Amino acid sequence: MRVKDRATTLPCEMGDATAVYPGTFDPITNGHLDILARAASVFPRVVLAVAGNAGKQPMFSLDQRVALCRQAVAETGLDGIEVRPFDGLLVRFARSCGAGAIVRGLRATSDFEYEFQLALTNRMLEPEVESVFFMTSKQYVFLSSSSAKEIARHGGDVRRFVPDCVAEAMIEFTG
Ligand code: ADP
Repeated sequence: MRVKDRATTLPCEMGDATAVYPGTFDPITNGHLDILARAASVFPRVVLAVAGNAGKQPMFSLDQRVALCRQAVAETGLDGIEVRPFDGLLVRFARSCGAGAIVRGLRATSDFEYEFQLALTNRMLEPEVESVFFMTSKQYVFLSSSSAKEIARHGGDVRRFVPDCVAEAMIEFTG
């Protein structure tokens, strides 16, 4: 198929589509919210999909992560965002939401290789779903859930890095 034809048959027409923004969100940070706001400026409906499988030792359970995401999203005042838990194949979940796009965030070049691999795998599994990437703001380039957890575990102030509701939950968790 020529590129021109491909362009006219893209499944995901921006501005008229649902996107899924998946992640572990253990916990949701200001960097995630930055990507969410950018996605919401392009897609009228964004499903923030919280993965059930969060690796070996998540700080927060799936229910807690979903609840914190809902609170954090409500605090942003963004329209058209739903927070839902998911398990299993991401592309299948995206399809079940009627989504034509998967949103991911890029920080430094170090994210690229992993995200490229993930996007190509998802494309093989479901060619109808496009992966779309947004660049984070400068101040969140080095921010990750893991670094926020590390700061909280050592008694540091995480308020600059995560929404207030998350900061409170982290302080409670770490005592
Ligand atoms: P996962 O375990 O699927 O990587 P995360 O919750 O760590 O889940 O991240 C979800 C998505 O958000 C990923 O695309 C990740 O690159 C992106 N992301 C995480 N932190 C930031 C940040 N500070 N700025 C921009 N994007 C980010």
